[in-house]
Amino acid sequence: MQYATDNLCAKPENLRSLREYRSTRTLLLDPATLRNLEVFQSSRATRDGSLLAAINRTGTAPGARLLERWLASPPLELSELIRRQGLVGDLQQAPAKLAELREALLHVRDIPRILRRLQNRLRNPRELGGVKETVLQLPTLKTLLTEWGGQLGEMALQIPDFESLRTLLSAALADELPADIADGNLIRPGYDAPLDQLRSLTSGNKTWLSDLERTEQERTGIKSLKVRYNSVFGYYIEITKANLHLAPADYVRKQTTANGERYITDGLKQKEKEIFHAEENALNRERELFATLVSAVLDDSVGLAQTADLLAELDVLAGWAVLAREWNYTRPELDEGSLLEIIDGRHPVVEQMLKDPRSAVAAGGGGSFVPNDTVLASDDAQIALITGPNMAGKSTYIRQVALITLLAQIGCWVPASRCRVGLVDRIFSRVGASDDLARGNSTFMVEMNETANILNNATERSLIILDEIGRGTSTYDGLSIAWAVVEHLHRDPVLGPRTLFATHYQELTQLEKHLPRMRNFSVAVKEWNDEIVFVRRVVAGAADRSYGIQVARLAGLPLSVIDRAKTLLAKLESDDSAVELPAVAPKARPKKKITVAVADDAQLNLL
Ligand code: ATP
Repeated sequence: MQYATDNLCAKPENLRSLREYRSTRTLLLDPATLRNLEVFQSSRATRDGSLLAAINRTGTAPGARLLERWLASPPLELSELIRRQGLVGDLQQAPAKLAELREALLHVRDIPRILRRLQNRLRNPRELGGVKETVLQLPTLKTLLTEWGGQLGEMALQIPDFESLRTLLSAALADELPADIADGNLIRPGYDAPLDQLRSLTSGNKTWLSDLERTEQERTGIKSLKVRYNSVFGYYIEITKANLHLAPADYVRKQTTANGERYITDGLKQKEKEIFHAEENALNRERELFATLVSAVLDDSVGLAQTADLLAELDVLAGWAVLAREWNYTRPELDEGSLLEIIDGRHPVVEQMLKDPRSAVAAGGGGSFVPNDTVLASDDAQIALITGPNMAGKSTYIRQVALITLLAQIGCWVPASRCRVGLVDRIFSRVGASDDLARGNSTFMVEMNETANILNNATERSLIILDEIGRGTSTYDGLSIAWAVVEHLHRDPVLGPRTLFATHYQELTQLEKHLPRMRNFSVAVKEWNDEIVFVRRVVAGAADRSYGIQVARLAGLPLSVIDRAKTLLAKLESDDSAVELPAVAPKARPKKKITVAVADDAQLNLL
């Protein structure tokens, strides 16, 4: 408040109230997870390719801002989520009305921003135009919502009429508004009699001036005589050199130029004074009227701000309704249980990219997205270990589960044919390798920091997405860490965080025998003449091998390298290097111990 007050040299009048922020009321997404899941930005740091871009169908700036806010802090209240879902349901049922609604919303201006500027004395006439255009749109919007009935009808009741403001602004504001009040002409002719009078004085005098040129030409007989204006002398009469001898005696010489002389007369100067005076008075009158219009808007600021919030919400939800129809989304069932069930789930971003002619995946003949199922439960199928060849689709699959859960928990419908989500309190993800060299962290250190954050902060209600943990170090170090991480997540005898763990460590699949809540899955491929065909299907059971060499060949490694790698692989596989599996018996639930490792921003944020 102090900072804002100092900078504005006034109290920030637009701050309506302060709200307490409690992390327990929202689904927590730490910065690493937001980055790994490409929620706001793709891995190439662009909007395109992010979840936000894939689900954004808003038409207004406040709508786009609200969508970002909803994505950043999904509420954990079932009632709020069910309310949003229901509204999307009502909206998507009537496509023609939905189109009409979205068209009407396009005329809604950025009222929160406009109010902020007006309240903080950063005023210009076009802002009032924005308020006018918005309130003019309200009757159409209200009628549409009332016709819809249900929750949308109730929304209509919350939108005030703003009838007097609407009438006032329509009557007072000109159709074309200047960006700066000093340019005048923002008030419509006919609205204010004193202003009209001042304007007619100006225009009457201007007509007198243009008539003057003709009458003076006739009086002096100089056809080339001109009445002109410049900012130094004001109005003057100009006569060319050849005609100087014809200048009447009442002309007072003001300036000699290369081509002739410039004169003024008493009558001309008198008129000039009247014109300037009238113009200035008209501008002052416009300023007065502008101030009263601004106060009228500010008197309604609370109602306007609430209406703007509601319209922003409508914009986001109407966009989701369009998205649901376009991409065949379904309404997920939400409850407080521990199940996560997705039937025919799809990755919301990859699915759209495969159909987008501008994207590289589509250009490469990506085809259609292959849907997959997921069932996870904290007390049953808690950990899904996913193995499978490189490029098969493991990362896509585990991310899609996290993104579908996130979408469900902001109240959006989801890309699946059926979906049930027992609300999760946090989504954690550790995906891919990334360096943070600027902050002194190597690839492996980043990986371990993020993993530590997950293991220290996940609860039995969390959802964890782990991709290739332990890849940044030597094979046995990595495998041991990955192994211990799975055991740790399964340490509680009855329940634990729902987890998807993608890995190339085949050895880990043996853990299924010892960890009752772990299940093996793999992404199927078809083998054909020593080539692999990706079918993108997630099936029960472990994969038998990684097919890394086949993928390397697809990528264009020299054939000599491929052949040598095959020979080496055959030799390595024939050695008896299987890892001994220790017997793992679930122990009693350990006493709760809170370990805090302050290692990077992600953890600081969670603290
Ligand atoms: P690696 O082990 O090498 O990291 P991966 O198994 O994690 O590979 P992904 O990166 O998930 O493989 O997928 C590779 C590509 O396959 C994706 O970029 C995507 O274009 C495509 N793909 C993945 N899943 C599907 C799917 N279900 N339907 C269609 N295309 C898919």
